[in-house]
Amino acid sequence: MIVPRLIERKRDGGRLEPEEIRELVLAYTEGRIPDYQVAALLMAVYFRGLDRSEMKAMMEAMLESGKRLDLSRLPMARIDKHSTGGVGDKTSLILAPLVASLGIAVPMMSGRGLGHTGGTLDKLESIPGFRTALTLSEAEKQIARIGCAMLSQTDEIVPADRKIYALRDASATVEVVPLIAASIMSKKLAEGLTGLVLDIKRGSGSFLPKLEDELELAKAMIELGAAHGCPVIALLTAMDRPLGQACGNALEVVEAIDVLKGGGPPDLIEVTMALGARMLVLGTVATSLEGAHTLMRDAIASGKALLKLEEIVAAQGGDRSVVRNPARLPQAPHQASFTAARAGVIQSVDPRAIGYGIIQLGGGRRNMEERIDPSVGFVISAKPGIHVVKGQTLATIHARTEGDLAVGRSVLEKAIVIGDNEVAALPLVSHLVTAQSVKELA
Ligand code: URA
Repeated sequence: MIVPRLIERKRDGGRLEPEEIRELVLAYTEGRIPDYQVAALLMAVYFRGLDRSEMKAMMEAMLESGKRLDLSRLPMARIDKHSTGGVGDKTSLILAPLVASLGIAVPMMSGRGLGHTGGTLDKLESIPGFRTALTLSEAEKQIARIGCAMLSQTDEIVPADRKIYALRDASATVEVVPLIAASIMSKKLAEGLTGLVLDIKRGSGSFLPKLEDELELAKAMIELGAAHGCPVIALLTAMDRPLGQACGNALEVVEAIDVLKGGGPPDLIEVTMALGARMLVLGTVATSLEGAHTLMRDAIASGKALLKLEEIVAAQGGDRSVVRNPARLPQAPHQASFTAARAGVIQSVDPRAIGYGIIQLGGGRRNMEERIDPSVGFVISAKPGIHVVKGQTLATIHARTEGDLAVGRSVLEKAIVIGDNEVAALPLVSHLVTAQSVKELA
């Protein structure tokens, strides 16, 4: 295989053969091709795309780069949820324990921050001691014992996605349907699921802001799932503003715990419950969406879901006391309020600007080696459409230094726009995509 010839062919709009893709993914995973050649190829794919058979070959090569979880002996359904990436999206942190507490096995393999979006692994690792790099056998045993494990790709499990994901993040090659689909589905099919719910983010803060691309992504992933015997459904949810209020790793863990204790912001609760209800129906623990909502409300009210989070944290080496006392999570030394410069209506809260702002504060990566500070970020109460008065608090900045507070302030000045018009944000949950149809829900 002569890699520059493959790059050249893709760059010029040609097709790669499935065998070539397989060889390339394997060679890169084994360290036989340097990052710079694969980064160049990814950029060619960014501009030229992959057709359905190339995408399938890529996903399968990534899936076959490691071993898979074998959970076939478990008596219960094995259902996961995966989001295409957003800002303030901490639904995984809530859903994994919530759904597992209701008798479904949730093997959840997640990612790190990607582009402007946050990653579940980075959020979990803000819990002191929490270990996401589980071995295959540790993950299998933990799921059999407590119904859930929240893990990363490793040298053993989808190592190809681990490397390619980090390289895409560092080379601005994230936002392309076949690469997102191959990345997500290689992880999900390695989990040995009996069903998958996808959360496809819509709007300016999503990787694919155009509705037609979001629908294409949903259909591509549903097809990949079907080809491997895994039923997949997708909900399209709003990412034209951050989800919930907390944006930043440890801050998001606090908010997720708040939801599991019966609190939390209404938008976060609505999206989480919509996804959770689909997981429970897919896993046949509930026969209707209404029934699923009741089960989830009860699991939160009884403390069962919170207890499951505590079990997961303890099983993965984390400090379980943070679940009862989130103040034990890392705290940024500097905090300041950000207030409205004028009276008016919030026109927009730009998730991309917020996501990149967190990276500027040290809460995300600029390159593959960078370490992140879990404590920094924003808690933003402003939502598009709300009326505010001059001087009203719109957000809190959490930063490492006084200088970073100023950086945070200038991020928010650009991200939160106040005007005079009434505005309508995207519906929180707008479409349901299944193998059979696309249905508008709102
Ligand atoms: N989530 C993933 O796991 N991969 C992507 O490419 C985007 C979101």
